[in-house]
Amino acid sequence: MIIEVITIFPDFFDSPLRAGVLRRAVDAGIIEFRTVNLRDYTSDRHRTTDDRPFGGGEGMVMIPEPIFKAVDDLRRASPPPEVIMLTPRGERLDNRIARELANKKRLVFLCGRYEGIDERVASGCIDRELSIGDYVLSGGETAALVAMEVITRFIPGVLGCGTSAENDSFTTGLIEHPQYTRPREFRGMKVPDVLLNGNHRDIATWRRQQSLRLTYERRPDLLEKAELDRDDMEFLKRLGYRPEAAG
Ligand code: SAM
Repeated sequence: MIIEVITIFPDFFDSPLRAGVLRRAVDAGIIEFRTVNLRDYTSDRHRTTDDRPFGGGEGMVMIPEPIFKAVDDLRRASPPPEVIMLTPRGERLDNRIARELANKKRLVFLCGRYEGIDERVASGCIDRELSIGDYVLSGGETAALVAMEVITRFIPGVLGCGTSAENDSFTTGLIEHPQYTRPREFRGMKVPDVLLNGNHRDIATWRRQQSLRLTYERRPDLLEKAELDRDDMEFLKRLGYRPEAAG
């Protein structure tokens, strides 16, 4: 997959791409990452990318011309990209969208700054608007990075173990069970015995029930859409879950 990011701060991505999953994906040739400096598409001496808002008000707005030029340029190359603008008003990024985008051959992320981007960009040059949550960042770069991480985890071969992303929180429809590692006892807190006895069926049952318990306690809304069998329902009812009351 090719991922290109249009930004006025291309250096922003240097360090995150040198660490962890993203670096491994780049090193393995699974993703090819490029930054596109928006200022390279400006036509004035000051390489201007923003101007004052029509109608008045505080702050600056990103002007459309360099963005259209950059996107036009990227669209000329093959394979055709899906061009995504990061914006708080966009569709909220979740695992479903990440999985869908992980199947694309080429993605372009457009990062806004200041008070945002001239509306004609949304209507005339991008394919999709994406938000990473109901809060406002200072720029789209952080959001692009979050999206890249989440999407990359769903590309086959990126994670060390091929099934890891499938067992993660939310992918299963539930929050993941708690994890423990050495030592067996730390400051008086013991690892649950069931994880030490080597009985894989007991361990699987314990993990499923812990996952159900955590989801019930922290994100009961997820239970409405989760795939639950009869054992799951019985366990949840013992905890006090009443599906008819949840809706
Ligand atoms: N004035 C805008 C508003 O109220 O919606 C916010 C502009 S924000 C300071 C600047 C840029 O950060 C946006 O153009 C967008 O690219 C990015 N951004 C901020 N919050 C975001 C979020 N929750 N998800 C995705 N991008 C975000």
